[in-house]
Amino acid sequence: MDSMRDMPGKPQVDGNTPTDNRDGDQNELRQQWETVSNHMRAEIGEASYQSWLRPMTVRGMTDGVVTISVPTRFMRDWATAHYQDRLTELWRAENDALAGVEVVVHSAPCTAAEAQPKREAAKAKEAKREKGDDLSAPLDSRFTFDQFVVGKPNEFAYAAARRVAEADSVPFNPLFLYGGVGLGKTHLMHAIARHIREDQPERTVIYMSAEKFMYRFVSALREQNTVDFKQQFRSVDVLMIDDVQFIAGKDSTQEEFFHTFNALVDQGRQIVISADKSPSDLEGMEERLVSRLNCGLVADIHATTYELRLGILQSKAHKLGVQIPAKVLEFLAHKITANVRELEGALNRVVAHSQLVGREISLEATQDVLRDLLRANDRRVTIEEIQKQVASHFNVRISDMHSARRARSVARPRQVAMYLAKQLTSRSLPEIGRKFGGRDHTTVMHAVRKVEELREHDTTFNEDVELLRRMLEG
Ligand code: ADP
Ligand code: MG
Repeated sequence: MDSMRDMPGKPQVDGNTPTDNRDGDQNELRQQWETVSNHMRAEIGEASYQSWLRPMTVRGMTDGVVTISVPTRFMRDWATAHYQDRLTELWRAENDALAGVEVVVHSAPCTAAEAQPKREAAKAKEAKREKGDDLSAPLDSRFTFDQFVVGKPNEFAYAAARRVAEADSVPFNPLFLYGGVGLGKTHLMHAIARHIREDQPERTVIYMSAEKFMYRFVSALREQNTVDFKQQFRSVDVLMIDDVQFIAGKDSTQEEFFHTFNALVDQGRQIVISADKSPSDLEGMEERLVSRLNCGLVADIHATTYELRLGILQSKAHKLGVQIPAKVLEFLAHKITANVRELEGALNRVVAHSQLVGREISLEATQDVLRDLLRANDRRVTIEEIQKQVASHFNVRISDMHSARRARSVARPRQVAMYLAKQLTSRSLPEIGRKFGGRDHTTVMHAVRKVEELREHDTTFNEDVELLRRMLEG
């Protein structure tokens, strides 16, 4: 089975199954798929595209039905529910002979992932459970599914987490959650652990940080007690290890983790892992461990969007039981973009301050209380990020930002990027000019004026620039 992360940038058409393809040429199919998936990309956004469309492989077309395969049953169900109709519509626009689109699961060599756990005697289970529970780190009572605000950037990870929590068997193995700091990985892990413990108390769940796992392993080595160590881990139903990037590069721990991991997967036990990077990007991870990690479901939590941040703020304000003007929440969602942890911290500070001084929360007070934090967030946009974002928005190469090409199709995006660099960073005109292929500061000035002028007269252009600005500011 291919994993979604192993695949190159584009969704695929499988060239190896010509016999499946009786209704048309594989090339045509490939072109149609490219058009359809590009449409979808524009419609559903980059995050959902990466999660759902990219892992898809077009298998072929038979009797007018295009078959698309995905790595897991979970993905098939989701894709069928969310995208099948739209894919069919879009595809029909490309090929009116199309009768439908069908989503299937790749034939899977990672079969242990779908195995059922062996049921054991209730008594042994009970003993195991106690052991598991005290091995496990405590769970934060706030980290539940109910308290998790779902939006585009995290809906896939959330759905995958729920699936693992609600299934009484193993829907995919491992579940690998990854994303930047403070985006909700630990929250989802705790939510899974809590849910399983409450709903299926007969299953042993161990949740611990990778650091703790390492520490225990090293202690066991020192006390020459590794048999016990192995026994403990290998008798759980659900093993959850948070922040596995900490065991990357630590050879003996990695080795042990790999054995434990394999043993559990082979017995059909559920593994859930989190990291700050995708399996393939984890440095110092052994190849076989990476490919094993890639065998299950890899779900990434993307950076927050404005909408998600606002949703989270509304939910937290509600929970705190305080009235906060919409303007203040919007301001925070706009400005505090790094991660959810920082966003929560900012909200708490604003609320605490107002209670302390006994004044209502206002925009001015908020700006005042958060001055240092806001400044730190302001500094985050770099000219490189602006160039990257603008280039991808207008579909030009990043190198065109520096190049001497003057064709309108590249000159205009370049001007937009210069304008945004002026608006969003504290760089001077000459500094900005240097970052755009060593241009003169008067060129930058001209670009800024030109963009200002266009914004006034061209609504579509104005919306484009505004959208870019919002995305860059978070
Ligand atoms: P990570 O483990 O990815 O670094 P955490 O799970 O510790 O991040 O999340 C940081 C904080 O942000 C926690 O308090 C968590 O409850 C909160 N948080 C993150 N994402 C969400 C969300 N979608 N809805 C509500 N709270 C969230
Ligand atoms: Mg964490």
